Formats: sequence, structure tokens, C-alpha cells
Amino acid sequence: MKSAIVVIDMAKDFVYGSLKCERALRIIPNLKRLIEEARRLGVPIIYVNDSHLPVDFEMKLWGEHSMKGSEGSKVIDEIAPEKGDYVLEKRVYSAFYETGLDPLLRSLGVDTVILTGLHTNICVRHTAADAFFRGYKIIVPSDAVEAFTEKDHIEGLEYLKRIYGAEITDVERLLKDIEKMYR
Ligand code: ZN
Repeated sequence: MKSAIVVIDMAKDFVYGSLKCERALRIIPNLKRLIEEARRLGVPIIYVNDSHLPVDFEMKLWGEHSMKGSEGSKVIDEIAPEKGDYVLEKRVYSAFYETGLDPLLRSLGVDTVILTGLHTNICVRHTAADAFFRGYKIIVPSDAVEAFTEKDHIEGLEYLKRIYGAEITDVERLLKDIEKMYR
């Protein structure tokens, strides 16, 4: 098994800006720990943020957010990408949709995606769907994903587990598993 960590929509607009999610704050320390440890062990880190154009379908639903080239579309400073990480851009919910994520994972020999970031029931869910359709094993640390409400988060996790067979874990347990595999 070779895994990669996919960090979805931890963009400034989603954490502090126009689509601010208060609950995102609580996962930052966990994500930071996971990313730093994984990076040290050589697990690929792949950031995929919204990078919208004004004509995108989503504008009608959510208004302008995480627009291409804007400060708000950048990964928050706390977990900013470093040299050797990968940064892709998306224009819909799924991190797979026309982003080059699938060929990147294949080039890296990855068969397991660790999905993190925002939101459990929206972009994480749609990314999980596409991962499932492409045959990837899916792991979701429940304390490294969040949603606008507790209900959305819990139901989101339940759906990931039931429909895509995602393994729901937490950062602590996941790091132990990764350590075992990569040591
Ligand atoms: Zn969006």
C-alpha cells in the first residue's frame, strides 16, 4: 500500500474569508501534525484548492470564493505547502475533476488516498466518490476534516464509510499506521 495525503480546500477563504467555516479552526493543529509527520516520512502531500473563474456553476450557489489567483484561494499559512509538495487547482467539488490528480497519484504509485480538509459532506465527499470510482482505497481521519455544522460532519463521515467503504480513523492512529508502513 502506498498512500498520499490530499488536503482539500484549506484555502484562506474557506477558513478565514468569504466562506469562513468556524469549525475549520479545530482541525488545523491536527492537520499540521499529520502533514509535517507525513512529509518527514516521505508520504506525498497534495493540496487541491478551489481556483474559481467567475463563470463557474458554483458562483450561483455560493457566491464568489477562492477565486483563481486571489489571496483567498491560497492554502492557509499554518499548513502552507513546502518544497516537494504538490499543489493542484480545482473548479468543482471533486479534487479529481480535470485537475490532474489521478495521473499524479498514478505516477507516484499511490493506491490509497488519505482525504483531509473541507468539507466532510461536500468536497471531501465528491473527491471520495471519484477516488472510489477509480479504485483507490480511501482513508479519512475524522479529526482532519470538517463541515459547516456538526450534523453535516457526522452525516458526511457516515456516508463516506457506508457508500465508499472509507476507513474512518483519527490523526493519532493514522500516524502510527503510517509510521509502521514507512519505517
Ligand atoms: Zn467552490
